[in-house]
Amino acid sequence: MMKCPNCQSKDLGKIGINQYYCWNCFIELSVGNRLIHTHQVEEDGSLSSLDDLFNEQERKLS
Ligand SMILES: [Zn+2]
Repeated sequence: MMKCPNCQSKDLGKIGINQYYCWNCFIELSVGNRLIHTHQVEEDGSLSSLDDLFNEQERKLS
């Protein structure tokens, strides 16, 4: 089961192929190469990467 690397919540909504949204901390997650990529949705709708906040171990799919 996938969980949010930011808040450890499992309350994730699927929004696309390999794309999820965390309802707890409101970040977008995408899965590629067995790693979870994290993005913050800005006010203008663009995405900025949060990946540098987490190490690879935290972002690994279990
Ligand atoms: Zn979260």
